[in-house]
Amino acid sequence: MILKIEHIGIAVKEIKSAEKIFSALLNKNPYKKEEVEREGVNTLFYETGDSKIELLESTKENSVISRFIEKRGEGIHHIAFEVDDINKEMQRLKNEGFGFISSEPLAGADNKLIAFIHPKYSNGVLVELCQEKKPQ
Ligand code: ZN
Repeated sequence: MILKIEHIGIAVKEIKSAEKIFSALLNKNPYKKEEVEREGVNTLFYETGDSKIELLESTKENSVISRFIEKRGEGIHHIAFEVDDINKEMQRLKNEGFGFISSEPLAGADNKLIAFIHPKYSNGVLVELCQEKKPQ
């Protein structure tokens, strides 16, 4: 089941200057910074009520974020929906004809399991499903 918009991901060229801008805009500091090496990104999270803002900066050439910025410039990169059971939701959406970028959920930033729907299946919007990792 899809529960809510968990966060909105924003691709930025330089996370330091974006941090200044978004800290001023939201009038608060980010609560978390985290590098996801596999994806070649630095992330930074702000709490905004029930949802979050995630800033994404590329840490290497040819990463997903650097290619996105080359093609489309800075801006909204993805919308993430929180789900209660990511495997079940992936199966449901595959049955509906949606294609995923990875066949299985992956470990993402902020203690989450994540999976992305390819934007060609969702009107150009990159959709992330995320589920809080349960304590082992
Ligand atoms: Zn995200």
